[in-house]
Amino acid sequence: MNPITIIGGGLAGLSLGVALQKRGIPTTLHEAGCYPRHRVCGEFLNGVGDETLGHLGILDLFADAHINEQARWYLRGKTLREDGLPVAVRGISRYTIDQRLADRFVELGGNLKENSRVTGEVQPGTIQTCGRRRTTNGKWLGLSCHLQNASLPADLEMHLGKEGYVGLSKIENGRVNLCGLFRERDIGPASRIDRIPRYLEENGLTQLAEFVRSSNPDPNSVIGVNAFRIGWQKRSNAGNNLALGDCLGIIPPFTGNGMSMALESAALAIDPIVQFSRGKLSWSNCVELCSQQLQHSFRKRMRLAQSIHPLLLHRPGQEALRLASQTGLLPFRLLFRQLR
Ligand SMILES: Cc1cc2nc3c(=O)[nH]c(=O)nc-3n(C[C@H](O)[C@H](O)[C@H](O)COP(=O)(O)OP(=O)(O)OC[C@H]3O[C@@H](n4cnc5c(N)ncnc54)[C@H](O)[C@@H]3O)c2cc1C
Repeated sequence: MNPITIIGGGLAGLSLGVALQKRGIPTTLHEAGCYPRHRVCGEFLNGVGDETLGHLGILDLFADAHINEQARWYLRGKTLREDGLPVAVRGISRYTIDQRLADRFVELGGNLKENSRVTGEVQPGTIQTCGRRRTTNGKWLGLSCHLQNASLPADLEMHLGKEGYVGLSKIENGRVNLCGLFRERDIGPASRIDRIPRYLEENGLTQLAEFVRSSNPDPNSVIGVNAFRIGWQKRSNAGNNLALGDCLGIIPPFTGNGMSMALESAALAIDPIVQFSRGKLSWSNCVELCSQQLQHSFRKRMRLAQSIHPLLLHRPGQEALRLASQTGLLPFRLLFRQLR
């Protein structure tokens, strides 16, 4: 049996580790940080179905997720549209779910190495699930936090600002996750807790900034990430590389589909990796097989999401969306289905 090494213990790495251990494949997982910890993420799990979670062996871990059913879109503070979501969507924090996945992996005999950052060339049998690749010319800043005392009229709210957008959605334990993607800019000195309201104000979302300040944001959950590029990531799945999740490609966050892609990519890779581990498939064939399946599954939604994304970030695109929405020309339900 060839042992498997996974680099990166986010959703892709942990769920793959659990699935492999369940199938008797000895797996070591290196995670640069330790659990539990917050991640910059809207925590709105749009796309992955029960079947995939069951195949990974992790469906029960989502039992207490909030079920989001209603969505409202706002353009600079004004309601744009309100809709039932065509499919109910789970909301669960990364703080909770990543810890549960790590526990499950260890219970199944997986070798979890926390505070272990791996560098250098990867060997056959090593899977890269280390998330977004750092880039020097990234222009985006992702910020998120948990609101402990927020009452939302809908389960999910999307707010479009001058150069960014923000999602609020309900997660477990009555909390609300707030997560925004902004063009990075100098906002002057701001305390950790005031950073998000300041960015909201800079983007013309003053009412939302006040709402955040009055909703008891959990200071420990305030977190940010920058220096990343949206889209397919460089050097993925070439040569010996087998990359899954964000390490393979970052879908624009407005889709709420990135976590799903991490889980779906792990599920797609299970069988080829098991065959490699049992000596029935060479590593290069395993990588090739996975690459084909991953491209086939994600190419269409990635292309569509990347074509809509710029419209959400600038006034002319936002105005076009507003008009399309008001005249009933925006096929919201169709787009929702195509983006997952
Ligand atoms: C602003 C924003 C909002 C988002 N909102 C949503 C949303 O609402 N819904 C949704 O589904 N998705 C959302 N996403 C996307 C989602 O967060 C990601 O797609 C998801 O986290 C990908 O999971 P992953 O396992 O691939 O990577 P990650 O969760 O990033 O995990 C990678 C792990 O690898 C570790 N690591 C990195 N380098 C190394 C190394 N060298 N050695 C060892 N370990 C390493 C890291 O510490 C990390 O734990 C959003 C993203 C952004 C930026």
